[in-house]
Amino acid sequence: MRRRTGPSSVPPVRGRAWDRGWVGRGIGRQARAGWLAEGSAALSDLVLPVRCGGCEAPGSPWCQQCQAVLAAAPAPQRWEPTPAPPGLPPVWTVLPYAGPVRSALVNWKDNGRRDLAAALAPVLAEVLLSGLLSCDQRPPTHVTPAASASGTTLVVPAPSGRANTRRRGDHPLAGLSRAALRQIPPRSRPSLVPALRLARTVADQAGLDSGNRALNLAGAMTVTAGHARRIPGMTCLLVDDVITTGATIAEGARALRVAGAGHVVAVTLAATQRHAHPPLSFPREPG
Ligand SMILES: [Zn+2]
Repeated sequence: MRRRTGPSSVPPVRGRAWDRGWVGRGIGRQARAGWLAEGSAALSDLVLPVRCGGCEAPGSPWCQQCQAVLAAAPAPQRWEPTPAPPGLPPVWTVLPYAGPVRSALVNWKDNGRRDLAAALAPVLAEVLLSGLLSCDQRPPTHVTPAASASGTTLVVPAPSGRANTRRRGDHPLAGLSRAALRQIPPRSRPSLVPALRLARTVADQAGLDSGNRALNLAGAMTVTAGHARRIPGMTCLLVDDVITTGATIAEGARALRVAGAGHVVAVTLAATQRHAHPPLSFPREPG
């Protein structure tokens, strides 16, 4: 897989094709390459100011300081909220849900900044690989054989509610998972299967405590009829962007097991500190 790359890997928010287009007709090449290009770039920044998705600094969609936060993240690690909900599978994560990471995830998911997936995908790929490797280390008595073979493992994004999908117009977690999988060599690359859906309406989890989050989601997820045949006996890497109390992941794992999954491991980009098991190596959240 590719290592995490710098801000240059983030595609520009808006194109500059018109910098080179009809605006410059009738004016010498030199002028186009010089003050006019600079002027039009400045003008486009006035119209659509580019701000960093992590810290709001002007000038680039993902700044070097925020990239440094991603680059300085520790290796992916096992994570468990306290208390852990019943049925929570092993969870692998890498970033504290705080500061620019939190801003980037909110902007990516809820504020239309899908371009930030380019910065987040390499990090998610690392966590996916850790999840895959952990499956390989299971004793050979498990239902499924080693998970490194692409045919035995599925990546299943946590579902979005219908209202969220309607509002956002897409399923950002599936898009991010797809981008992360592209960074894994094809020989070990699991298939992306958006097999989970919410079978009923659930309340927004934000603001609910651990017990009420679990109640809110209990029995809420199911495997879609179209994907039901793909699950039995498979190792499923359940992907979510953030783990808070673990209620979403526990419910997703339950639905996958009901559908016959042989083994479930969860993978998230970030973990909240509030519900954290203390000794892990993330910096503590202020306050
Ligand atoms: Zn930044």
